[in-house]
Amino acid sequence: MEEKIQNEGKDSSLSFLAENIKNVGQNILSACERSGRRAEDVTLIAVSKTKPLPMLKEAYLCGCRHFGENKVQELVEKYEQMPKDIQWHMIGHLQRNKVKYIIDKACLIHGVDSLRLAEEISKEAQKKGITAHILIEVNIAGEETKFGISPLEAESLVREISALPSIQIEGLMIIAPYVENPEKNRQYFVGLRQLSVDIKRKNIDNVSMNVLSMGMTGDYMVAVEEGATYVRVGTGIFGERHYETV
Ligand SMILES: *Cc1c(COP(=O)(O)O)cnc(C)c1O
Repeated sequence: MEEKIQNEGKDSSLSFLAENIKNVGQNILSACERSGRRAEDVTLIAVSKTKPLPMLKEAYLCGCRHFGENKVQELVEKYEQMPKDIQWHMIGHLQRNKVKYIIDKACLIHGVDSLRLAEEISKEAQKKGITAHILIEVNIAGEETKFGISPLEAESLVREISALPSIQIEGLMIIAPYVENPEKNRQYFVGLRQLSVDIKRKNIDNVSMNVLSMGMTGDYMVAVEEGATYVRVGTGIFGERHYETV
């Protein structure tokens, strides 16, 4: 049953959200058409980090059911205050000591790049009697400042993690470099898709490799053209982020 949300805070200053969500949806659709993909194979994650609840509720009313957060505490707080039919994605770098807070709240943990983190996720999932769904973060552009495993080490990490109980590797995730021209990131999206195809062919137990989480506000259309199944769009939906109050 749909949960009713109070809509009294709605005013013209919020309506840009409806406009943005519509535009992003149309852009995803066009990218699907250009590349011969089915629209239902691409899911938009509304990245709501730093944004207040009324904006999330507005996005929910516009049809968003997937939200992305990068801080554990923020995800938990919003999880508790938003309708229960939302799927929450943990998209940030997760510290091991905080896994326990989100293990039963996040539908997908995007940024797993070490065996130690995966072991903690496995342990907490076992405690709760659930299966954790994760993505392996790959640093395909080789940027020093980024988290993520190198493409060459990805398969061996997948093999190690796949042996852990209560964990399912659904696919790969990339945070592409910040670029003015999104075409510059096409090579990385192509590379991530190829890597996922290579690993999928190995038919490893507990590894499905059907998910590619790639593309943000600046480059999600290119990512969809190259096979993204999740795009993570923040600024393009909610506007610029202001960090001073966080
Ligand atoms: C913040 C963030 C996004 C969204 O970025 P925008 O450029 O605002 O769309 C996507 N993915 C991750 C991992 C993020 O941290």
